[in-house]
This record gives sequence, structure tokens and C-alpha cells, in this order.
Amino acid sequence: MKVGQIAIVGRPNVGKSTLVNHLTGAKVAIVSQKPQTTRQRVRGIITTETAQFVFVDTPGYQTRFTTALNRTMNRYVTQSFADVDVIVLVVEAMKWSADDEAILKLLPPAQKVMVAINKIDQMSDKSLMGGYVEMLASKRDFIAFVPISAERGTQTKALLGEIEKLLPEGELMFDADTMTDRNERFLAAELVREKVFRQLGDEVPYGCTVVIEKFELDGALRRIFAAILVDNENHKPILIGKGGERMKRIASAARLDMERLFDGKVYLEVFVKVRSGWAESDASLRRLGYEA
Ligand code: GDP
Ligand code: MG
Repeated sequence: MKVGQIAIVGRPNVGKSTLVNHLTGAKVAIVSQKPQTTRQRVRGIITTETAQFVFVDTPGYQTRFTTALNRTMNRYVTQSFADVDVIVLVVEAMKWSADDEAILKLLPPAQKVMVAINKIDQMSDKSLMGGYVEMLASKRDFIAFVPISAERGTQTKALLGEIEKLLPEGELMFDADTMTDRNERFLAAELVREKVFRQLGDEVPYGCTVVIEKFELDGALRRIFAAILVDNENHKPILIGKGGERMKRIASAARLDMERLFDGKVYLEVFVKVRSGWAESDASLRRLGYEA
């Protein structure tokens, strides 16, 4: 068997989470229109007849804020480059920005890096691809370039094939049927967080996060209590909405996704709490379950 770890890197919004979700067929990482919604390292795992791929979906490198939270996130990004077998740099077809350049600079020179050129479904003139690849090739010695559409699944098998060639031989790292190394508690928090982002769009207060306060199994029923933590009292009404409308929509959408993912009934309660200053200290990050 070929077995190895793959880091999916790239600036925010290029489609890293979409790619991992598509490949693993499970909703393990948050997907949203908003940049910087993936806060934690999330792994998706694919096991085939010949290989096991362990994906590390890194958050976008944070350059805009300098709170402890962002420093912690930057450490994840740097860490994840060191221990992997292959890096897949995801870029958006025909785009190259200062953010892409900044990520590229972080990649260790000795590391094997492949480029997934995503969102090719949005390209109107495919003949421009040659020039774009040439531009990329002038920046670093990349192993391969694979044009894909993560959303439609175009060429994602080809991408896996290219990755497999670079993985070392080894023993399986996870059971064949494991999709993610995150537990249900973590996934439940991710789903609530995704719904918050979907419902609030640009209104979502920075520093808003979700923790699961209780997760109980009652026969086949999962009883889940999720708290949405915000930085100050003024943010509460934004999340709750008129007559609790928003909170109801967030909770019921999250519950439906959980029932699908866990394949069983879910009782879900979601509430909003103020935890002031939580984003400012490493200690409170650790309490919330972020690895420092
Ligand atoms: P991340 O920040 O790199 O993890 O990006 P996401 O996976 O959250 O995707 C950002 C946005 O790009 C979302 O709105 C996705 O639906 C969209 N997206 C991802 N892949 C594709 C693709 O292949 N084609 C198109 N048109 N949109 C995509
Ligand atoms: Mg993401």
C-alpha cells in the first residue's frame, strides 16, 4: 500500500475545503463564501485498493489580524508543511495574487509540491491555460499541474493518481472505513458554525465560534447542546434574529445535516453566549479545544 499525508494549502477561498469534501465524500470541513472560515486542521481520509490518502486541510494563512487566534492558525499552517509527504497547492485558474505568493513562500524548498488549478469550470477560454501554467512554472519547481473543478469533481481522480505516485509504501494509518479523525462532537460544532456563516454572511461577528457543551447518546438519539460564543453583548441579537427566527433556522439546518452525517436522530439545542476577550489569549483558545 501507498500511504501518506497530504497538505492542501492555498489562500482563502480557492476551494480547499470543497476539494477535501468532494474527495472524501463527507462533510468534514466547513465550506463558505467567506474567507477564513476553516479554523482548525481537519483531516479527510480516502482508502482505496492500493493507497490511503490522509488529507490535512489547512486554514488560509492569516495576514489581516494579529490576535492570538490568528497566530495559532498560522502555526497550524507552518506545522502542517513539515510532516506531510506531499503538498497540494490549490490556486484559482487564471488568478495569482499577493496572497498566493505569500503561501508559496512558506513552502519548504525541499518539499514535493503539486499544483491543483481549481475552478476551471469558470474559465471561458481554455486556451489561456498554457500561459498560466508557464507563469506558475517560473515560480518554483513543481512536480505536476492538474487542472480541476473541485465543485464538479472534474479531474479530481487524475489529481489523486498524481498524488498516489508520490506517496511512500507503508502500513495503513487509519481503519479502512474511517472518513475523518475528528469525532462527532467536533463535526457537530463545524456544522453549527457553517450554518452561522451561511445565515449571517457578512454580518457574522469576527471572533464568533461554536462549542459543544453537551453531547449525549440516548439509545439511537443524539442529544446535542451547542453554544455560539460571541465577543460582546451587542452581537447576540444579530445571531438570534427577530423573534429568534435566525437561531431557529441555524439550528434546524444544522440538525438536518447532523442527522444525515451521523445517520440517526438528533435533538439539538443552540444558544448564544458572550465570552469576552476569548480570541485574545492562548489559554482560552486551549480551553476551547484549539491545539496551541
Ligand atoms: P477554501 O477557503 O479554500 O477552503 O475554499 P472553499 O472550499 O470554502 O470554497 C470557496 C468558494 O469557492 C465556495 O463558494 C465554493 O463553492 C467555491 N468553489 C470551490 N471549488 C469550486 C469550483 O471548482 N468551481 C467553482 N465555480 N467554485 C468553486
Ligand atoms: Mg476552507
